[in-house]
Amino acid sequence: MEIKPRFQVPLLLLAFSLPAAKAQQTPIQIHADLSNAPRKIYHADVDLPVHRGPLDLITPEWIPGAHGPEGPVLDIAGIRFEVNGKTLAWHRDPVNTYEYHLEIPADASVLHAHLDRIYSRATRTAATLEWEDLLLYPAHVPVREIAIQPTVTVPARWGIGTSLKPLTPYDPQHPTGGTVQYAPTTVEMLEDSPIMTGLYFHEYTLAPGVSPQHYMDVIGPTAASIEVRPDTVDQMSRLVHEAFAMYGPPHYTSYHFLILLQGDRGGGGLEHHESSDNTLQKDFFTGYKPFVGMAGLLPHEFTHSWNGKYRRPDGLATPDYATPMQDNLLWVYEGLTNYLGDVMGERMGMVTADQYRQDLALTAALMDAQSGRAWRSIEDTTFTSAMPRNGGSRSRSWSSWKRGTDYYPEGTLLWLDVDTTIRRLTQDRKSLRDFLQTFLQKGGSGIPHVEPYTLSELEADLDKVVANDWAGFFETRVDNLQPHVNTEGIEQAGYRLDYTADPTPEMERELKDSPSWAAWFSIGLDEDKEGAILDVRVGSAADKAGLAPGQKIVAINSRVFTIEQLTDALKTAKGTGTPIHLMVQDEDTIAPVSLSYSDGLRYPRLSRVENSPDILAEILTPLTPATPGSQR
Ligand SMILES: [Zn+2]
Repeated sequence: MEIKPRFQVPLLLLAFSLPAAKAQQTPIQIHADLSNAPRKIYHADVDLPVHRGPLDLITPEWIPGAHGPEGPVLDIAGIRFEVNGKTLAWHRDPVNTYEYHLEIPADASVLHAHLDRIYSRATRTAATLEWEDLLLYPAHVPVREIAIQPTVTVPARWGIGTSLKPLTPYDPQHPTGGTVQYAPTTVEMLEDSPIMTGLYFHEYTLAPGVSPQHYMDVIGPTAASIEVRPDTVDQMSRLVHEAFAMYGPPHYTSYHFLILLQGDRGGGGLEHHESSDNTLQKDFFTGYKPFVGMAGLLPHEFTHSWNGKYRRPDGLATPDYATPMQDNLLWVYEGLTNYLGDVMGERMGMVTADQYRQDLALTAALMDAQSGRAWRSIEDTTFTSAMPRNGGSRSRSWSSWKRGTDYYPEGTLLWLDVDTTIRRLTQDRKSLRDFLQTFLQKGGSGIPHVEPYTLSELEADLDKVVANDWAGFFETRVDNLQPHVNTEGIEQAGYRLDYTADPTPEMERELKDSPSWAAWFSIGLDEDKEGAILDVRVGSAADKAGLAPGQKIVAINSRVFTIEQLTDALKTAKGTGTPIHLMVQDEDTIAPVSLSYSDGLRYPRLSRVENSPDILAEILTPLTPATPGSQR
């Protein structure tokens, strides 16, 4: 079979590469039919303007926000093409499996395509549509130049949350389900504008009086689950005010927090210019007390509208979803956002300063325990999402030696370091906010667009705030190997990382969710409740004893293994020099193992450095008054 060069633009497709305004004359029509979502299958009908000759269509591969080749091609089924009512043959490109080749006959002006997307996370009462699930469009054309108009059908009575602008009547306060048509846009903006829909739906207006407008669209498993308390709505409004005060004006025409309440642990979020889709545990708004990581999710995704969507590393500002992304500045895109999201979670009042400090200690301890920092820099971890995932990479075996997407938590520590360094060098007259007000405000008319940046620009903007060797600063901390975690930010903030035998309340909560961490900071062992070893930290006592992932500890000091037995043994051994005796099973063999360890239990916490100012308290102080609506 003939293989076409990747970037050859067929002459007859050039109409699509005209500027967006002109391309708007003949938008692709895409109809997303979610009426079968409860059966975990979406359908799409796509009508594309075409001309005679060869046509290459494509579905997205490199997904913005996922930072990797995670397009859903494996879950696309039922593809069918028709012109003038007749089926048209197609062939998949043998090199790029996201691309489909067709030959359009002479008499055709519209190609009709149908495809299905298997979506296992949809339920009987809720569904999320990321448009990359259903998009089909001409290959080799910048996606911001392809006009497209979406229509969406959802089950009867389901409400729809989206930043797309409806053309047909739609009342979010009284949703009826059915079909809604939206204003024409581009493939780039449609991919950036997900749909969240469900039977139990409520749209809350946030930060009244603020322009542009902000909404929170909540979908849950029951009518009671989506009743958000007024004080929580106030906290979300506070987040809007805090973000404006910290980052400056936004780059969207309106913003929708799309929130799906599902499951017991929540799932995470995905950022967009004018919305974010977030999955939180089903009782998030009804009695659940968020911890820092969860409280930071909504502010994290919101912050991305400025840092990530509007300002984007040049290697991530790709013209289409076939061009591989270059992830090397994710320690800014995600790392800075991680720092800001957690700080905002505290400033908006969702968690306390004490919770924040305990979580920061845990972050620092976890990163210090990543033994792979001996061979792999923070910068190198940014490539993790772009690497092929063929099963084994997600295993927990020796995971701290491999390192994972560490640029998120390392970013929290790094940008605390930047923030406190600016404060120290300017005698507390300036802070990270001064940098953000420059870096996140490079013009534009308040509508979504991308301003790519390089590391040099970022360093120059920091230098405008305070002169410093910022290139050397980042080279040392990000590019070079650092055998120990960066705690300079914590120390400049007036604290130090300590380990004590008593877990903090945040650590206790973590241990309740993941009891396997009980011995991670002491002997470097990650084991499940039955004693199966999940991970061993390189250089730890468990490593020196020869323990390995996949083995199982069946007994400790002649007693049957339990987590409690393990922690008791660690406590008892403190300061004695007496080894701990284990019986360890590997497949069908059992052997004794002697573990030399006498430092007792170790759990991280932050302690105040006496006679130093509490800079962390300053960082966690809200910038705006407590009453929402009282300030822009
Ligand atoms: Zn993020």
